[in-house]
Amino acid sequence: MVVTFQYGCIEMLLYNVSSGTIMDIFAHFLWNYIIFHRTKVVGKAVLAGVLPDVFSWGIYSGYHVLNGYAFRQFSIALIPDWVFMLYGVTHSLVIFGAVCLILWLTIKRIPLYLYGWLAHILIDIPTHAKDFLPTPFLWPLSSFAFPGIRWSNQNFMIANYVAILLCLGYIFWKKLVHNGIKKKSK
Ligand SMILES: [Zn+2]
Repeated sequence: MVVTFQYGCIEMLLYNVSSGTIMDIFAHFLWNYIIFHRTKVVGKAVLAGVLPDVFSWGIYSGYHVLNGYAFRQFSIALIPDWVFMLYGVTHSLVIFGAVCLILWLTIKRIPLYLYGWLAHILIDIPTHAKDFLPTPFLWPLSSFAFPGIRWSNQNFMIANYVAILLCLGYIFWKKLVHNGIKKKSK
């Protein structure tokens, strides 16, 4: 069924919310904040942590809407090959390694925030099931996929967000204690 652009945008948003995709991308955002919060590049690292999904699933979502496809009729079989290629490029340890090698050979350093991308891939490997967008972490050398647990599994999502909240709570509690000590010593 062909849908209008505005309706398609709303439907796409609803699909991404109900399927847990938005929550998955938000979890990447928060985990990278937790991992890099003590560095000066936390903003860039957080961005590097969400871009792999924006440049694959995000582009596909836009394509789906622009072509007037209805998201409620979405199926894996509808996804064009170029989306899997984008998914491979953005979710591959091989590509990440190649980019690091090129940077090392040219500018002699690997920016710290780039490890935000690595964190995204490493988190995705065990949190994607084989039947729905498994993480192609060995692309283009191999199509092997780890039989992980799907991120939208309700129990997993609850455990994931509880772990995130515990880590964030600890970080902010430490900041409060640290600020308290600073004030006292003035
Ligand atoms: Zn991803």
